[in-house]
Amino acid sequence: MASRPSIIEQRGAQMFPVLSPLEIERARRFGECRSFPTGAALYTTGQVSAGLMVILSGRVEISQRDRSDRHTIIVVHEPGEFLGELAQLAGRPSLADATALEQVEALVIRPDRLRALLIAEAELGERIMRALILRRVGLLETGAGGPIIVGRADNGDVLRLQGFLRRNGQPQQLLDPEIDAEARALIERFHVDPGQLPIVLCPGGQLLRNPSEDELARCVGLVGPIDPNRVYDVAVVGAGPAGLATAVYAASEGLSVLVLDCRAFGGQAGASARIENYLGFPTGITGMALMARAYNQAQKFGAEIAIPDEAAALHGPADGADRFVLQLYNNERVTARSVVIASGARYRRLGVANLDAFESASVHYWATPLEAKLCANQEIALVGAGNSAGQAAVYLASQGAKIRMLVRGSDLNASMSRYLVDRIAGLPNIEVVTRAEVTTLEGRDGLLEALRWRVGDGTETRRPIRHLFLFIGAAPNTDWLTGSGVALDGKGFVLTGDDAGGNRHALETSRPGIFAIGDVRAKSVKRVAAAVGEGAQVVAALHAYLAAGNQTATAAIPVAPARSP
Ligand SMILES: Cc1cc2nc3c(=O)[nH]c(=O)nc-3n(C[C@H](O)[C@H](O)[C@H](O)COP(=O)(O)OP(=O)(O)OC[C@H]3O[C@@H](n4cnc5c(N)ncnc54)[C@H](O)[C@@H]3O)c2cc1C
Repeated sequence: MASRPSIIEQRGAQMFPVLSPLEIERARRFGECRSFPTGAALYTTGQVSAGLMVILSGRVEISQRDRSDRHTIIVVHEPGEFLGELAQLAGRPSLADATALEQVEALVIRPDRLRALLIAEAELGERIMRALILRRVGLLETGAGGPIIVGRADNGDVLRLQGFLRRNGQPQQLLDPEIDAEARALIERFHVDPGQLPIVLCPGGQLLRNPSEDELARCVGLVGPIDPNRVYDVAVVGAGPAGLATAVYAASEGLSVLVLDCRAFGGQAGASARIENYLGFPTGITGMALMARAYNQAQKFGAEIAIPDEAAALHGPADGADRFVLQLYNNERVTARSVVIASGARYRRLGVANLDAFESASVHYWATPLEAKLCANQEIALVGAGNSAGQAAVYLASQGAKIRMLVRGSDLNASMSRYLVDRIAGLPNIEVVTRAEVTTLEGRDGLLEALRWRVGDGTETRRPIRHLFLFIGAAPNTDWLTGSGVALDGKGFVLTGDDAGGNRHALETSRPGIFAIGDVRAKSVKRVAAAVGEGAQVVAALHAYLAAGNQTATAAIPVAPARSP
C-alpha cells in the first residue's frame, strides 16, 4: 500500500514561502539585521533562539535529530525565506537545528515583535502564521526534535507522558526496549533499573526517570517560571474553549493576559474525537484541531499561556488593594487585577475498569442527533436517573432504539421530574431496570460489543449492546476556590449575575472583579459554542471593571500559604 504523502509533499509551498522584496521591506521595522559566519548555529535543538529569521543573503540548512542523534536535512533556506516554527512565536526551545552553510545576513524578529508583525501586517502575517503551524505539523509527523521516551508501548506511564505531549502539540519519539536494541543500549548506558522506566531524554540532554507531567513540561521548555512581580490585567484559570476565547478577545483588545491550565489546552473539548455542532464546521472538526487553532491564535495576540500550572487557591483583594493573587500548587503566584474562572467541569464516569478504552466511540456523555443516528434501531443502555438522563432516554427512544435505562435506586421518582417519569412510562421501548449496577464492558479496538449489569438480588445480565450513555452528573472543578469567598451553588458550580448578589454583571461572581464562564458556571449551557460565547462576552465586563478605576491601588496583599498538592 502506498504510504500517505508527508505534509512537506502536500503543502511544501505554504510551509516554505518566499517573501517578496516588498514584504521583506515591510518586515524590516519589526527586526534587526545580524550576520552569521559559515558554520554558525542560528538555532540549536532544545535551546531558545533569538526569534524568527528572514534570510537576506546566504543559505541556511534546517535539520532534525533522530533518536540516535543523526541529523536529517529538512530543508535548505535561501534568501527571501524565513526560519522558524511555532516555538519561535512562543519563545520556546527550538525543535530543529539551523546552520549557516555560508556567510548569512538575516533579519532577526524577536517573539514579541513577531506577534506585532502578525497583527499589523495582516496578509504577510497570515502567510507566516500558516507556515509556522504547518512546520509544527511536519515536526509532529516525525516526532523529531521532541523528547525521547524509553519504555514499553503499553506501559501506563508511557501512555500518560505520550498523552500529555500529544495534547500539548509537542513532538515525541518512543523507544520500546521489547523491540528496539537502541532502547536497551540507552537503558544500559544510563544504568536504569526496569522499575525506573520509562526514562525520558529531553532535547537539551537531560535525563528524567518516570517524570511527572510538570517535570517533563519544564524540561522541554513548555512552561517556565512566572514573573512574581508582574501584574496582569486578567488571569484566566483554565485553557478550555472558554478560557482560550477570553485570551483571544482580551489580548486582541490590548489587555495583558495569563492563562493557566493544569493539564493541556483545549479542556474537555480537546478530548472530543469530533465536534459536529460547532458553527462554521459543516463536516465537523476534531476537538484537538479546533483547540490548537485557538491556542495558536491566543499566542499570536500575545496572551501568555502556562501549562501545566494549577491554581490551588485564590486570595485578595484585601486591605484596600485591588489585586488578586492566584496561588499555584508549585508555590508560584500570579498577581492580576481581575480573574476569570474557566476551570470547567468533568463528567462523572462509571467506576468500571476499562471504561476509557471505549470512550471515544461507544460511551457517550450526551445525546444529540449524531449519537441517535449512530445507534438507531439498536439496543442501547443509558445510566442515570436525573432529568438529563430522562430527556436523553425520551429523545433516543424516538429513534426507534430499545433503551435499557439502568438506575441505581428503586424508581425514578426521587430524582426525575414527574412529566418525564410519565413520558418514560408511556414509551414501550424504554425499560427501566432498577437497583442496577454496570459491572463489565466487553469489546475490542475501542468498540463495545456487550454490557453486563447486576441487579439487587445479584442476578447478572449480559446484552449485546454497542452504545452506552452516561448521565450521572458533572462535577465542577472548583475545589481550588475554597476560602476565596466566591459563592457556589449546592453542587459546587459558581454563581454569577443576580444569583451571586445584587447589581452584578451576568458573568460576575459574588466577588467583584472575579468572573466565571463556561461549564464551571452555574446554569451555563454545557457546549463548546456557549463556552466560547461567554469567553468573548466576559471581555466587555473586564474592560468595564478595569476602567472603573479598580486597578489603581497598590497596597500589599496578604497571601495565605499554598495547600499541598
Ligand atoms: C468527550 C467530550 C466530547 C464533547 N463533545 C462536544 C461536542 O461535540 N459539542 C459540544 O458543544 N460540546 C461537547 N462537549 C462539551 C464541551 O467540551 C464543554 O462544554 C466545553 O469544553 C466547556 O468548556 P470550558 O472551557 O468551560 O471547560 P473545559 O473544557 O472543562 O476546560 C476547563 C479547563 O480548566 C482546567 N482546570 C481545571 N481546574 C484547574 C485549576 N485549578 N488550575 C488550572 N487549570 C484548571 C482543566 O484542565 C481544563 O483544561 C464534549 C465534552 C466531552 C468530555
